[in-house]
Amino acid sequence: MTLPTPTALVADDDETLRILLCQALANWGFDVMAARDGREAQELAGKRLPDVIFMDLMMPVLDGYQASRAIRQLSDGLDIPIIVVTGHEDLESIETAYEAGVTDFITKPINWALLKHRLQFVLRASRVRRELRASEQRYALAAQGANDGLWDWDLVHSNMHYSLRWKQMLGLENQAVSEDPSEWFRRVHPDDLPRLQNELEIHLSGQSGHFENEHRMIATDGSYHWMLCRGLAVRDDCGQPVRMAGSNSDITRRKAAEAQLAHDASHDALTGLPNRMLFTDRLQHAIGMAQRRPDYAFAVLFMDIDRFKVINDSLGHRIGDQVILVVAARISACTRDNATLARLGGDEFTLLIHDIGGPELVTELIDRIQNAVAEPLRVDSHDLRPSLSIGVAFSSDNYQSADEMLRDSDTAMYRAKKMGKGHFAFFDGEMHMQALNTLLIEAELRTGLATGQFILRYQPIVCMGSLRTVGVEALLRWQHPQRGELVPADFLSSAEDSGLIVPLGRWVLREACRQMKAWEQAVELADDWFVSINCSSREFAQPSFVSDLEKSLAESRLSAARLRIEITEQVIAANRRLAEAKLREIRGLGIRIGIDDFGSASSTLNGLENLPIDYLKIDRSFLHAPDRAHDRFELMKAVVDLVHKLEMSVVGEGNETGDEVARLKRLSCEFGQGNYFLEAVRAEEVIPLILHGSGWTGD
Ligand code: GH3
Ligand code: MG
Repeated sequence: MTLPTPTALVADDDETLRILLCQALANWGFDVMAARDGREAQELAGKRLPDVIFMDLMMPVLDGYQASRAIRQLSDGLDIPIIVVTGHEDLESIETAYEAGVTDFITKPINWALLKHRLQFVLRASRVRRELRASEQRYALAAQGANDGLWDWDLVHSNMHYSLRWKQMLGLENQAVSEDPSEWFRRVHPDDLPRLQNELEIHLSGQSGHFENEHRMIATDGSYHWMLCRGLAVRDDCGQPVRMAGSNSDITRRKAAEAQLAHDASHDALTGLPNRMLFTDRLQHAIGMAQRRPDYAFAVLFMDIDRFKVINDSLGHRIGDQVILVVAARISACTRDNATLARLGGDEFTLLIHDIGGPELVTELIDRIQNAVAEPLRVDSHDLRPSLSIGVAFSSDNYQSADEMLRDSDTAMYRAKKMGKGHFAFFDGEMHMQALNTLLIEAELRTGLATGQFILRYQPIVCMGSLRTVGVEALLRWQHPQRGELVPADFLSSAEDSGLIVPLGRWVLREACRQMKAWEQAVELADDWFVSINCSSREFAQPSFVSDLEKSLAESRLSAARLRIEITEQVIAANRRLAEAKLREIRGLGIRIGIDDFGSASSTLNGLENLPIDYLKIDRSFLHAPDRAHDRFELMKAVVDLVHKLEMSVVGEGNETGDEVARLKRLSCEFGQGNYFLEAVRAEEVIPLILHGSGWTGD
């Protein structure tokens, strides 16, 4: 790169000197302009700024002092070297000349060789100064653009310079700010000060390449601003820091956004309560503390709103949300400040309570929570009374992870739900075993269903008059590979809990229909010979229940008259209106319906006449009442008579002794079923029974 030709201006009224200088400069490669007085010099410099000016002090029109001052006023005129050529050596004029902005002096007569060197030096110095000024300007512009406040700390004299922006950031622009570094430090948030000082120390002692720290500083209005402070120390030859400079950027908004993000990630959007993540974190912390401090005890409460789906389904999600909000607020009002209440999701809340005295205190708290939640609640003109089921797990040495403890409190909650709504239960080890067992059975049930471990056995139902078999009841058995043949009592509750009851029930239905059809095709059967199957609440409640019945009949090409279904009174009681409608549909298909286990629970004859029921099965426990036998018999008689009046028939179930059968007869029960007559048998044993009778004579 070729440098532009340097320019020089020579201002002197002494023509000889002027020409000599111009000549010499031209020889050294300069473009030279000449002026005869100060005015001319000022005008020439104004038109084209030279790289160097030789100035005589004593000139007509405008002297050298005035001309120098005027040139310094020009834009970019600050850095031009102005060299005075003078014969004067009086100090006073030199001083005045410096004040006017002159850079250097040479004396007459001129030493040309020296001047040439001097000129090079002066030009280089002026170039460096210009570059420095440009760089300073660039830096100032950049700082202004970045909106940073700058500081410059003289470590030797311990004073600090702050830029205007630095002051503005704290509202200090109109105040005198002391140069003492304490001016900065005393404005730092006390919580952030030790780290700031520590990091400064680390940087100043040479242990870090650059200094960076985020801290809060108080502004004059009392608010705290987050500052990102960066800086660098300048060291002397021995490596000692002598100066440090840097910038402060206001990062308050970034910090607020970060805090918001962190909050959102750990809180539930609807209630603003901590979410599962934060709760698990705090719980894990509590478990860690209990491991260090044996006297520290805490508990986890797992709470779930009872029948919340009903609220959601009948009144809508929006009202559901409002209920969740109110319940959250009510629980929260019962808790202490140091407890953590979280919403795990849906209608589930958890509460972590610290330093609990013992189970009694927890019971009191639960009481308060349950009572508070159960207060009447009016949402959009709907009157509600929410209730909570609560499970509790207490801290123990056994807990290593938050998940384990949450799981146990959930298990206890589940137990509370089973006791009815609005109850609570404390977790114990037995529950854990049971929960494990349930999981195990569920897995086995699945395998059993998939690999054909279930079979049906059939127990004949006998007509008390003719002693002939009128049909069979299909009874489910599980041929468990390890535990042998299991009856429903062994696995039904697990099947219900896991929902596997539904596919299991469908299998029973299909298998019973298929088998019935096979018998029908194998032997001649009376028209009303039937198979009956049992059906649980859960299956009955399936929306597809009626269509499943239709489908199974169609698939097996079985007449509906060959199929009977038996339900318990509880199935009807769960939702009478719905049950009634469904029963009519089933009846409409031509399937007969019986009530099973009549008399085993709180039975009611009330309303029986309105239901499409064909027969009642009376439980053995109802028949068999040795105490006050006479009264009991009279009551039974009245029941059976009434049932007959309703044109239903009665089946006496579970008969094991001759006495029981005799009593059945006296009660005029039409049908009997039980081991006294015949045990439940395999499908292939049914045909001989049909063909040859039971061999039972009624003796
Ligand atoms: P249980 O008495 O056994 O607790 O039965 P439940 O009806 O309360 O049912 P469960 O606790 O199993 O289900 C909670 C329901 O909450 C399921 C879901 O439809 C509903 N749900 C989940 N999240 C929200 C939500 O953010 N808002 C509302 N309104 N409902 C929710
Ligand atoms: Mg619930």
